[in-house]
Amino acid sequence: MSALIQRLAHEGSLLCPACRQARWKLEPDALHCEQCNAHWPVRNGVPDLFNRYRAQTSEPPGQQSARHAEWTAAIVQALELDTNGDLPERVAEIVSRASNWACSDSAYTAEINDLLDRFAPSPVPIEMGPLPAPNHQPAFQLVRHYLPEALLAGTEQSVNFRLTNSGDAPWSSRIKQGLRLSARWLGADAADTAPALTRFPIDIAPGRTISLPMRLTAPAHPGRYGLRLQLQRADNDIPVGEGVDLPVQVVGAAGAPDEGAPIDYRAQIVDYGEDHAAGVEIIASSLREAGIGHARILEVGAGTHPYTAWLTDHDVVALDISSPLLELGALYFGDRFTERLGFLCADAFDAPFAPGQFDLVCMFSTLHHFQEPETVLRQLAKPLKPEGLLAVSSEPVGDSLEQPETVRDLLKGINEQVFSADEYQRIFAAAGLVPTLMRIDGGSLKAILKKKQS
Ligand SMILES: [Zn+2]
Repeated sequence: MSALIQRLAHEGSLLCPACRQARWKLEPDALHCEQCNAHWPVRNGVPDLFNRYRAQTSEPPGQQSARHAEWTAAIVQALELDTNGDLPERVAEIVSRASNWACSDSAYTAEINDLLDRFAPSPVPIEMGPLPAPNHQPAFQLVRHYLPEALLAGTEQSVNFRLTNSGDAPWSSRIKQGLRLSARWLGADAADTAPALTRFPIDIAPGRTISLPMRLTAPAHPGRYGLRLQLQRADNDIPVGEGVDLPVQVVGAAGAPDEGAPIDYRAQIVDYGEDHAAGVEIIASSLREAGIGHARILEVGAGTHPYTAWLTDHDVVALDISSPLLELGALYFGDRFTERLGFLCADAFDAPFAPGQFDLVCMFSTLHHFQEPETVLRQLAKPLKPEGLLAVSSEPVGDSLEQPETVRDLLKGINEQVFSADEYQRIFAAAGLVPTLMRIDGGSLKAILKKKQS
C-alpha cells in the first residue's frame, strides 16, 4: 500500500465505507475496520473499498489460458514492465480476474471487462447481434431527463432522455418496423412544430437503460406546453405503447443569464492524449491561480493512468471502480511517487473520505459514464475543501451517440452518454456547482467548478 494511502488512514481522512469511521488496522493484504469489523482486501498494493465483484467463470479453462497469456504479454509490453521478476505472473492473475469478475450491476461488470479490450493484442471486433423480430408491445420507463423548465420559443436544442426498456423484447432501429423515440409537443400551437425523432444507436435489450439525446425545436409561440415522449415505428408516424408527458414553459425572451463563466469555444484537439494534456494544464494553472502550491488531489476514474500523477508538486489519490485497472497502475508506477501517489478502489457515489479533505477533485473523460452525473458531482463535492476546485476534462459535447467509438462502447455494455453544453451547465447547477472556467475544444468539454456559496 502506498505511503500516501497509509497516511490518509492514520490521519482519519480515509473512512470505512461500511460504517464511515476511521478506526483502521493496516495489514499487509487488508484494511481492517476496528469499528465494524469490515475487512477490505488489498491487492498489489491497492485497497478495495468497493469489493462487490465476484468470480464467475464463463469460458473453459483451456481456452482461457491461451487468451490470457496473449493479454498478459500485451499488457507487460504496453506498460514496459520488468519481465525478470514476478510482474508477468501478477499481471496474469489480474487478467484472470478482469475476465471473470462480475457484479450485480451489468454496467459495472462491463467496466471491469473493458480492461481486456483496452489492452487487447489486436482489435477485437464487436458486432451487433442478428436482427431481432419486430417488437409488438414495446414499453419504456423514463428514468430521468435534462429538459429545462423553460425553453426559448423557436430555438433548437439537444436534450437527453434516459429510458429503460421495460418490455420483454429488444428495441431495434435496424429493422423495417423498428422503433425510434419520438417527442411531440402538446398544446394549442403545437401542431405546427414537427415531432423530434431519434433512432437507437444499438439494440436495447429488455432491462437495459440508455440516455438518448433528442434534437428539440421549441414551439414558435410562448405558452404552457407539454412534451409527449413515446416510441414510434420507423415505417409510419403512429406512436406505439404508453407515452410520458412532461410540462414545459415556452418563453419569448431569455430569462436571467446563466451563472458562472461564459463558454470559451475553440477548435478540436485531434489527438486524444493532447486533449487530456490540455485538461491537465488547465488544472495546473487553476491551482496556481488559486494560490494552492501543494494540493491534495482526488482523481476519479483514474484507471491505470492518473493524468495528474505527473503534476509533481501535488499528492494524488487515484480512484476507480475497477481494481484490476488500478492494480496495473500500481505495478506500472512501482515505488515511484509512493509518498504522493496512491491507488484506491472505491465507489465515487460513496467516496470513502471525511469531508473537506481535497483541494481538487478531477476526472478525465469519466463524468459522462455515470448514470447520474449531477448526483456523483454533488457527492464528490463533499470531500472537497470549501474553497476547493472540481475539474472535469475531456467530456464529450454533442447531440448524437452515433459515433463508431461510442457505439462500440455501448455494445460492450458501458454507459455512454453525450450532453450539450447547456445540459452540462444544468448538471453543474443541479450539483450546486458554479463554473469559473468552461472551455469546449471541438466536442471536448473542460470545466473548473467551485461550490456555490450559500
Ligand atoms: Zn467500518
